[in-house]
Formats: sequence, structure tokens, C-alpha cells
Amino acid sequence: MTDFGIKEALAELGLKDINNGTSTGSNNFSNGEIIESFSPVDGKLIGKVVTSTREDYEKVMEAATKAFLSFRNMPAPQRGEIVRQFGNKLREKEALGKLVSYEMGKSYQEGLGEVQEMIDICDFAVGLSRQLNGQTIPSERPGHVMREQWHPIGVVGIISAFNFPVAVWAWNTALAWICGDVCVWKASEKAPLCSVACQNIIAEILKDNNLPEGISCIINGDYKVGEMMTTDTRIPLVSATGSTRMGRIVGATVAQRFGKSLLELGGNNAIIITPTADLKVVVPGAVFGAVGTCGQRCTSTRRLIIHESVYDKVRDAIVGAYGQIKIGNPLDETKHVGPLIDHDAVNTYLAAIEKAKAEGGNVLVEGGVLEGEGYESGCYVKPAIIEAENHFEIVQHETFAPILYLMKYSGEVENAIEKQNGVAQGLSSAIMTNEMKEAEKFLSYAGSDCGIANVNIGTSGAEIGGAFGGEKETGGGRESGSDAWKVYMRRQTNTVNYSDELPLAQGIKFDL
Ligand code: NAD
Repeated sequence: MTDFGIKEALAELGLKDINNGTSTGSNNFSNGEIIESFSPVDGKLIGKVVTSTREDYEKVMEAATKAFLSFRNMPAPQRGEIVRQFGNKLREKEALGKLVSYEMGKSYQEGLGEVQEMIDICDFAVGLSRQLNGQTIPSERPGHVMREQWHPIGVVGIISAFNFPVAVWAWNTALAWICGDVCVWKASEKAPLCSVACQNIIAEILKDNNLPEGISCIINGDYKVGEMMTTDTRIPLVSATGSTRMGRIVGATVAQRFGKSLLELGGNNAIIITPTADLKVVVPGAVFGAVGTCGQRCTSTRRLIIHESVYDKVRDAIVGAYGQIKIGNPLDETKHVGPLIDHDAVNTYLAAIEKAKAEGGNVLVEGGVLEGEGYESGCYVKPAIIEAENHFEIVQHETFAPILYLMKYSGEVENAIEKQNGVAQGLSSAIMTNEMKEAEKFLSYAGSDCGIANVNIGTSGAEIGGAFGGEKETGGGRESGSDAWKVYMRRQTNTVNYSDELPLAQGIKFDL
């Protein structure tokens, strides 16, 4: 069987020794436990990394805090130049897209898409490096001026999830770096080699520019290593992407020490399909949203809320489209859907289907685990469609797998919006309509309560230009575009008196 050029890709990314059992990891000092990374694509061992010990962590933090003291002195546009070089390097890195696909299991096209997102955020950050603007504010006092400045915040801790093993890091780092911060990254223990590959790329750029290594650090391990960062007062900002369960702990831990956290957590995303919706748009939007990345995107479409007048037509079209889906090795570009990340994910998927049935769900497209040639890893599953009610316990929760729930609404669009908002999560949402009034209602303050609300496109596939994130149990964080950069800086308000008097604010008299 072809290995789709994986060996060459690993070698190009500086991971060539790992198949011999040599452990790797850029900040690899220790005798910590070994994490083995198995590909969900073929079940093979790709490589190993060493878990960072407390001692390693201290060394990393020492390097990072020291690097910050010099990096913050570098003018922001010069920091932008480093990010520009990083973006340019990524333009040559198809191998990274391949590794993402092989280690995480998403299609090669989506792996390349992740690398493209990294390039896009670099471009965005380069421009932004000349626009970290504060404001001047009129003072109420004569001979006074007020202004706001944005200063680097320090060491940014990044905790990332397995499903976007490189892009999420880049969203954070590209902005943090132009802001003058340095970064310590703990990637998901389920996709650690992607982080080593990224670290190898940026380490070369830092070296070429005679910049300290501590500007970009990685640590390896599970939640215990993550906890070293969340409890560390030397880290003013922790950006954490993952499950709501993780965010609840991380948010509380960081808040306890008055740190800032940027939380990007789970979603439970719906598309509302109205009577005027165009099926040409609905079908690819809903199907890609539900099965893309095997349903393992935070923005994956989990629920379709369909007007009763078009329900049968939409249901049949979607079920028909599921018949065309090809499941298999994600590096084979003729396949639409790859594997789930691991066997635990497969079990969670199977249990969710059983639960939906037990609650009264009606299965329209059967799920199940695929077996036989090409499916040896045991992680390939069939995307399922189930008719369900919004209040079902299982529908209220995010199952990170390709299970799509169909439900009806009747009457006006407000009824659909109520269902769409009737879950604890608030990440992404969409409406399919050609009625201007319905679209505007959906986007209004009384409409979708999500951080992302789309019209006539699906719930997944955001561009980096907009701020990305969600409300409620999704955590409230925003990263990537718009003014998300502000979270990576500290705001300082300055009042300067250039008069010869000392008038007090609010006209308070204090005569001596
Ligand atoms: P996860 O919560 O299991 O793990 C995410 C990361 O958090 C890992 O690096 C893990 O080691 C770390 N972690 C877990 N507990 C921790 C703790 N107590 N302290 C410190 N670190 C801890 O999530 P996952 O299975 O890797 O990813 C899937 C989840 O991520 C889904 O819920 C998905 O919706 C969410 N996600 C959200 C976004 C977003 O932008 N909103 C993006 C991608 C993924």
C-alpha cells in the first residue's frame, strides 16, 4: 500500500528519526514518560515524544521569560518581519499538511487548509504589526491629555486541542508575537508531532534572525503538564482550546490567580433551513458541515432545524447525499471522510447513537464502525443521521463525531431561532433563506446567540479576518481576526498634565 509520501514528509519536517523509536521534542531535556503517537489513518506508530517534567517546564519558563525581556524591545513592525518569514516558510510546507492529515486523520485537503490558515494569519499579523494603535481621549481638565497604549503582556500559554493541531497555535502565536509576547505551547497529547514540526520551522527562523529560542517554546504532555501553566503566575494569559469540561477547570484555575484566559470550547451548531432555502446551497453546506473532519470540528454542524413545509424534501436530499460519501484514507484525495481520532472517540460515537435511539430518535442513516481492508486502525465510522428532538439529553451535548440530528420547526423563523439557541453552547450558527427579513431577524440582537452567525453558508469554515469564538459554554473567547489582538496585550491609560496647575478630575477641590 502506498504511504502517500508520509516518510518524505516526516523527513522534511525534521521528524526523520522518530520511526526508529528516537524520541523527539524541541525542548526535550528529560526522562519524562513517553507519549506514542499512533496514526488513526492506519494505526501505525508515527513517533514518540517525551512528556515534559517539572524541571523541563522550569527551564522552558526561564528561557521564555528571559526572551520576553528582549523581544518586547524590538519594534512591532520588526516583529512582524519575523512573522512574515514564518508565513513564507509555511508556503513551502505541503509536508505539514500531510502530517496533519496523517496524525489527526482529517483529509489532506483540510490538512493543507490548516496550513493555509496559518499563512493567512501570518499575513494578517504582519499588517497588524503597524496598527497596534491606542486612542487619544479628550481630557475634561485644561492642559491635560489622555491616551491609551497597548503593551506586550508577557508569556502566553497556549493549550490546544487535537482537531486543529497546527492552526490554533498559529492563530495565537502570530498575533502574540507581533504584540511582543513570547509563547509556550502545550499541544494535544493526541497530536504531539504536529507541534514538534511547527517548532522546528519557527526555531530555524529564530536562529536565522539571531533571536532567542525562548520566543517560541513547546512542552509535551497531557492535562498535568497543562496544569503547570494554568497555575503559573508568570503566565498572564492562557489561551485554551478544547472541551467545555477542560475550559471549566482551566478558566477557574487561571481566574483564581487573577490571570486572563481566552477560552475556545465546544459547540453545538445548527443550521436553520427555511421554506425559501436553496437546496443547491443547503445540501453541500450541511453535509460538509456535518461530516467534514469526520464531525470533529468545533464548528461541525450537529443539528438541522428544518421548516415542516420543506422537511421531507430537505431530509431526502441530505440522506441521498450521504449515499455519495466515500470514507477511507484521508490522504487519498478521492475520499471525503477519514477516521475519528482514536478508539475512545469511536466508543463515544457509538454510545451517542445508542443514547439517541433510547431517547426516541429515529435513525435515517445507520452509523457503525467500518472493518476490513483500509480500515485496520478501527477508527473509521459511518456518518449517521438521526431524527431527534432538541430537548434530548444527547442532542444537548456535543458529541465529537459525525452524527447529525434532524428536527422540524413550524410557523415563523422565531420558533427555529428559539430551538437553535436552546442549547448550552454558543459557537456557530447558520440560516438558509432567501427572505431578507428572516436573515436579518436571525442576525439581530433577538436572533442567534452564537459568536458566529452565517447566512446561506454552513456553520464550519471560518476565515481568519473575523474574530473567532463563541458565547455561553463555548467560553466567550475571541481569537484570530478583527481586534482579537487586544487580548494579547495589556491596556494602559495615560493622563499627562502639561499645564502649571493641578486640577482634579470631577472638579474636586483639595486646596492646601
Ligand atoms: P480536550 O478538552 O480533551 O483537550 C484539549 C487540551 O486541553 C489538550 O491539550 C489537553 O491536554 C488539555 N487539558 C485537558 N484538561 C486540562 C486541564 N485540566 N488543565 C490544563 N490542560 C488541560 O479536547 P480535545 O478532545 O483535544 O478537543 C476537542 C474539543 O475541543 C471539542 O469540544 C471541540 O469543540 C473543542 N474545540 C474548540 C475550538 C474553538 O475554537 N471553540 C476549536 C477546536 C476544538
